[in-house]
Amino acid sequence: MSSILDINLAPSGRNKIDWVRSYMPVLGMINREFSASKPFSGVKVAMSIHLEAKTAYLAETLRDGGAEVHITGCNPLSTQDDVAAALAAEGLEVNARRGVSDEEYTRDLKETLSCSPDVIIDDGGDLVHLLHGECRTYAGNIIGGAEETTTGVHRLFARQRAGLLDFPMVDVNDADCKHLFDNRYGTGQSTIDGIMNTTNLIIAGKTVVVAGYGWCGRGLAMRMKGMGALVIVTEIDPVKAIEAAMDGFRVMKMDEAAAVGDIFVTLTGCRDVIVGRHFDVMKDGAVLANSGHFDVEINKSDLESRADRIWERRANIRGYHMRDGRTINLLADGRLVNLAAGNGHPAEIMDMSFALQARSLEWLLKNKGKLENKVYPVPREIDLAVAEFKVSSLGYAVDSLTDEQREYLEKVD
Ligand code: NAD
Ligand code: SAH
Repeated sequence: MSSILDINLAPSGRNKIDWVRSYMPVLGMINREFSASKPFSGVKVAMSIHLEAKTAYLAETLRDGGAEVHITGCNPLSTQDDVAAALAAEGLEVNARRGVSDEEYTRDLKETLSCSPDVIIDDGGDLVHLLHGECRTYAGNIIGGAEETTTGVHRLFARQRAGLLDFPMVDVNDADCKHLFDNRYGTGQSTIDGIMNTTNLIIAGKTVVVAGYGWCGRGLAMRMKGMGALVIVTEIDPVKAIEAAMDGFRVMKMDEAAAVGDIFVTLTGCRDVIVGRHFDVMKDGAVLANSGHFDVEINKSDLESRADRIWERRANIRGYHMRDGRTINLLADGRLVNLAAGNGHPAEIMDMSFALQARSLEWLLKNKGKLENKVYPVPREIDLAVAEFKVSSLGYAVDSLTDEQREYLEKVD
């Protein structure tokens, strides 16, 4: 039995799903194939992933392939209630609503796992964490799962190193058709979208501090530059710092950047990237957003402890009035600004990420009983097949090697 906000919101959610379907040709092709061959017949899938329209299309694709789908969100603020209603109206089991407390969020994860799934899709590692602890009892059937994001994959490798991974997991994030597009161009565009929608302020001429120059950070820095911002990058990795500098950005420590930035965005996967001493020197009106991981990158308790007044200035903007008279603005409660205050990555991007998810689950089923309890990369042929279909759906064509060219490229001397 689904637990959602309001089933009457279903028509609005259905419109959103129908819109994105038109821009997701790779997942559409997989949907047609799965609908005919039903590779998930008799299979229970548990999903914890941002519950919005693109995700709904993935869930429906698995359902059309024969799966019994149980779905919840992976972030207390990113669920779209109308999309959740549209899925529940289709008979999928949905346990999710926007704006839940941490306790309710965990309750929804547990409820989703209580189906004793055969396969899981995780985003950030919450399902895997529960299945190795409090919800171990539901882990008995698990054939394997697929993890969507960088931080979740880091946690899986930590678990594998410690010998504490109890079933195989596929690392979707590190497939080429995932991080090169999703983390970079998806985060680049949708983070700006979230900030602009929320603040309605101009980017051009502002000093934007981008914390972390990984795939997400470089995508954001590139797009912010394109919007006319002066971009400063902070890093802990000297190689990434050189890359940022040679891409044309200023590089400095957060201790220095804190005093000059107008907009700050964290995309590190790390905690406490912006803390008390940084808030102490920020400009009046500074805007803070996170597009990395959960709500730990910007230290909210340091911010709260410095404020003599905290109030909701607009939807998704909380003002912190400092005792010295300055105001610092935090977007989306320090959670992913692109998903908590926006629609996340565009459909054309999630088309590739979710095609990889669908194919990875299919691969796990085909290899049932043959896999070890470790982290597997997405098989190269799946990644390449997604790329090939995507490139042709975009109307581009690539050349093929002749036998002579292949021989030339492969020869020893
Ligand atoms: P990445 O590993 O490629 O990059 C992270 C970068 O942050 C690294 O270069 C690292 O050196 C740097 N870093 C780490 N700690 C730092 C610190 N304290 N200060 C400054 N820099 C620091 O990872 P990624 O793929 O770019 O992902 C980053 C985060 O964003 C992850 O948590 C990931 O799960 C999340 N993510 C979010 C979205 C989204 O939709 N908003 C999309 C994809 C990934
Ligand atoms: N669950 C954690 C971890 C970060 S989520 C959290 O909420 O903090 C980051 C992932 O969100 C990315 O890997 C990306 O693939 C996914 N994502 C981005 N836009 C999305 C969208 N529109 N729909 C579903 N997932 C999306």
